[in-house]
Amino acid sequence: MTTISSVRGFEALDSRGRPTVGCVVELAGGARGRVVVPSGASTGQYEAYELRDGGPRYEGFGVVGAVRSVNEVLATAVTGLEAADQEQVDLAMEAADGTPTLAVLGGNAVLAVSLAVMIADAQGAGCELWQRLSDSEIPLLPMPMVNIFSGGAHAGHAIDIQDVLVVPVGAASFAEAMEWVSRVRLASAVILESRGGSAALVADEGGLGGRLASNAEALSLVTEGIAAAGFVPGVDVGIAVDLAANQFWDGSHYVLRTDHLRLTPSDWLSVVVGWCEQFPIVSVEDVLSDDDWSGWRQATQSLGVGRQLLGDDLFATNVSRLRRAIDSAVGNAVLVKPNQAGTVSRALAVVRMAQENGYATVVSARSGDTEDAWLADLAVGWRSGQIKVGSTMRSERTAKWNRLLEIEALNQGHTRFAGRGGLAGQAVDAPGIV
Ligand code: PGA
Ligand code: ZN
Repeated sequence: MTTISSVRGFEALDSRGRPTVGCVVELAGGARGRVVVPSGASTGQYEAYELRDGGPRYEGFGVVGAVRSVNEVLATAVTGLEAADQEQVDLAMEAADGTPTLAVLGGNAVLAVSLAVMIADAQGAGCELWQRLSDSEIPLLPMPMVNIFSGGAHAGHAIDIQDVLVVPVGAASFAEAMEWVSRVRLASAVILESRGGSAALVADEGGLGGRLASNAEALSLVTEGIAAAGFVPGVDVGIAVDLAANQFWDGSHYVLRTDHLRLTPSDWLSVVVGWCEQFPIVSVEDVLSDDDWSGWRQATQSLGVGRQLLGDDLFATNVSRLRRAIDSAVGNAVLVKPNQAGTVSRALAVVRMAQENGYATVVSARSGDTEDAWLADLAVGWRSGQIKVGSTMRSERTAKWNRLLEIEALNQGHTRFAGRGGLAGQAVDAPGIV
C-alpha cells in the first residue's frame, strides 16, 4: 500500500490531432503512472462531460481548463490517498466536482487522474496491470471486433452508417484472430480498389473509407472480403455493424443520404432486419437513437435472438441506463468506454452489472485515441470477453492489439481466449468465458 504523492496534468494530442488530457501520477514509494485519455467523435448525450476551452486555440478544442482541474483541484483531492483504493480516489474526485456528469472539472480531467492512479498502483505493486485488475491468474484474451470500413462521423459521412467491422468467431486464439482479420482487411482493400475506391484513404480508426453507392454496399464489400480472404462468412468470420443511429436521426426520421431515404423508426428497423437476413451479421450496435427505449425493446425482439444487440450511446457506460435496460429487456451487450463513465470505478461497475445479468461486454477505444495500451489490460483483467479498438493499422490501434498479443504470447499455455463465447447470442460450444 502506498499513497499518492503527486498529480500533474498536461495538454497532449490524440490521434486526430486534437488536444486531450495527459496526466502523470507519482506514489510515495516512487511508482509512476502516465496516461493520455481518448476522445470520441460520435459522442452520445449521456456521456461524462468533456471540458473544452473554446476560443481560438486549437479551434476551441483546447483542454487548458481541464488540465487546470487536474493540477489545482483533483491533485489536492487525491494526494495522500491510498492508490490501491481506486474507489475512494474516484469518489473523492466525484465529490470535488459535485455533478453527476463531472461537468465542472471535466470528465476528461477526472478520467486522466483515475487511470494514472490505476497504472501507478499496478507499477507500485510490481505486477502487470491486467493482473492487478484480475481475480484470476489466467488471463482471458478478448475476442476482437475489428473495423474494416468506416462511414459516418469517422469518415466524413461518406456513407451514413458508421462502421462495418468483423469478428473472427471461428478463431482459436487471439493471435489467430488478428491474423484472420488483417487478411480480411487486405482482401477488402483489393476489392474496394477494383471498384474505383482508394485503399490509401484511411478513416479515423484505421478502416477503409470513401464513397459507395449505398450503405448496403459496405456490407457486401466486407462480406466479399471475408470470402476472398478464404473464410466462410458467418462461420469463420462474422460482420459487426456500428450503425451509430443517433448520427442520422433528425428527431422524427432516420435520414440515409447515401440511399436517398427518409425512414420512420419501424421502416428503418425493417431495413436493418433485411441486412441481417442478407449478410452474416453477428452484432448490431446502436441500431436506434439513444432515447428510443420502446424501439430498442422491439429491436431486441427482432434482432437480438441469436445475435448480439449492443448499446453504446444508449448505455453511455452508465449503471442507471444499463439497469433500466436490464429491467426492460433491452439489448444483450454493452459497450464500455471509460471516458463515457469518467472514472475507472464507474466503468468497472458497468462491467460487473452486465456480467451479473448475462449481458456481454465490449471494452472500447474511441475514434480519437492515444498511444496508451491500458485498455487492453482492462479487457483482460476485467474479463470483458470482447474488445473494440478500430482497425489493424495506425499505432494508437496497434498499441492495444500488440499489448494483447504480448499478454497471450508471454503467458503461453496459461491463457484462455474468449472466442465466440465472448459474444452475446453465439452458441457457447467453443472455449468460452469462465
Ligand atoms: P466514437 O466512436 O469514439 O467517435 O464515439 C466509437 C463508437 O461509436 O463506437
Ligand atoms: Zn458506437
